[in-house]
Amino acid sequence: MAQPDALFQAVLETTSDAVMVTDRAGIIQRVNPAFEKLTGHSKSQLEGMNAADLFREYNDDEFCSGLWAGKERQHFDSVRSQHADGRAQLHSLTLTPVAHDGDEPSQYVALILSETFQSDAASGTTRKVGHDPLTGLPDRSLLADRVGQNILTAKRTNKSIAMLVMGLDRFTVINDGLGYAAGDLLLKELGDRLSKIVRQSDTAARLDGDKFAVMTPISAIDDSVIVAEKVLNGVKKPFHLKGEDIFATLSVGLSIYPTDGQDFDELLKGSLSAMQFAKQAGGDQYRFFASDMNAKAKNRLELEKRMRAALANNEFVLFYQPKVNPQTNKVKGGEALIRWKDPQRGMISPGDFIPVAEETGLIVDIGTWALRESCRQTKEWQDKGYDPIRMSVNVSAHQFRAKDMVDKVVAALNDTGLAPQYLELEITESMLMNDIDAAIARMQKVRDLGCGLSIDDFGTGYSSLSYLGRFPITTLKIDRAFVRDVQENQNTAEIARAIIGLSRGLNLEVVAEGAELMEHIDFLRDNGCDVIQGFYYSKPLPAADFEKMLKRAA
Ligand code: C2E
Ligand code: MG
Ligand code: MG
Repeated sequence: MAQPDALFQAVLETTSDAVMVTDRAGIIQRVNPAFEKLTGHSKSQLEGMNAADLFREYNDDEFCSGLWAGKERQHFDSVRSQHADGRAQLHSLTLTPVAHDGDEPSQYVALILSETFQSDAASGTTRKVGHDPLTGLPDRSLLADRVGQNILTAKRTNKSIAMLVMGLDRFTVINDGLGYAAGDLLLKELGDRLSKIVRQSDTAARLDGDKFAVMTPISAIDDSVIVAEKVLNGVKKPFHLKGEDIFATLSVGLSIYPTDGQDFDELLKGSLSAMQFAKQAGGDQYRFFASDMNAKAKNRLELEKRMRAALANNEFVLFYQPKVNPQTNKVKGGEALIRWKDPQRGMISPGDFIPVAEETGLIVDIGTWALRESCRQTKEWQDKGYDPIRMSVNVSAHQFRAKDMVDKVVAALNDTGLAPQYLELEITESMLMNDIDAAIARMQKVRDLGCGLSIDDFGTGYSSLSYLGRFPITTLKIDRAFVRDVQENQNTAEIARAIIGLSRGLNLEVVAEGAELMEHIDFLRDNGCDVIQGFYYSKPLPAADFEKMLKRAA
């Protein structure tokens, strides 16, 4: 038979509850395997560590220092600690002081239960704390907690959070007509649909009655519109209740942290009042708390619709801007720059529609068109007998990440007959930084085709020079911000010089964009820049005018 100590040890080794023993100052002395698992830290990392450090990220100093000051047993139902991978986790914590000598605690034993259950006296059932028993979704208190955590993160990263609150339109009619049991079924099914719509980083919750909420971290207001539209569409499919198809719609109210509120309560209030406006306007729609947002969201929707039509009606055109060798003044290549010829509004520049196209995913179709059209045009000029030039095409982040990006390049080349060395793709640094290895693999595929690859707007993104050497690129394009002030600003001139030197060291072609003045050309040429693009030589031109330039050079 095992000795009592050994038996006790075995229990600690096998239990799924996390246990640690600390000294009186909170320095960890012992942990069990469940504790390693819960925190993500190994035993050797944990032992000797200040246990309060596990809680610091998500709790205030007062709470942390109070933990190891108590003489009584302390219990917390829901405490947040930080996992080794950075994420917050919610659990209960019981901290028991152990006194060997006198009445000062000499050690503490902490027990952590990662999933807390609570019995519901009324129904006699046991449920996960923080979850709504009907739908299994997080309840209002857990949502409040998650919103609080996300606000902390958002503060640090300067991001925003959208809080959507939604209620079923005419729910009482359904409840009265079909009975409460059917109403409950509807709510359960709605909860399921909501949890499928939201992403990992979002929280879908049930507030009360027919009111649900979704909290989602966003980087632009448009992200919240996308979620709202998904939610509205999510209920478009009928609900099967008691053998009948029930059609339901939602009213959605949105508020945004930090503009509409600083904490959960303020955001909730804002979303609820916005939801009322959506209901008053007839339901089956969303409304922002801030009224100017509604106008913006409407504009964005309209722009998206018009862009779709523009693609179908061939309203997009490509302009071409020459890239010139400053030693010989010969046109070496061009950059294809998209324009939208809107029959009503005239020429729209890419800065006004590319960002929305990017967010809605429309950029994929627009970009595919631009890629193919620039290949076609470049080949046509070759066939007409002009000296072959290399054409650069801008590729957006969305396009670059698409699985079939390389296939589309291959198709554009094959279908138009353009040889790959006459095509160069321009990408920006910020597109590469998320998942460097995947980005490098993709870049390599483009290079394997035989196409050029250029980093556009170099110097403005979060470039890390240590990565630059690993990128299989052919060209660096100095952003026009560095070219613009080379005359006035000595520091800018030094940066431009350094980028040119860097490119040479890495054996890359270097292109300067935005050269407008003779002085820019002189500076760039004298400092060894191979290729220059800018208004000094020419603005982006319609294809026919660009062809005239080629003709003159021939
Ligand atoms: P970009 O790729 O950096 O393109 C260079 C921009 O600088 C162009 O603006 C061009 O007209 C402008 N530019 C050229 N020389 C000068 C100069 O000397 N002075 C000044 N002030 N500006 C000059 P544009 O055509 O308005 O395009 C803006 C951005 O839109 C492009 O920046 C590119 O990021 C994006 N874009 C354009 N066409 C496409 C496209 O087909 N697909 C994608 N994804 N993005 C595109
Ligand atoms: Mg470009
Ligand atoms: Mg650029």
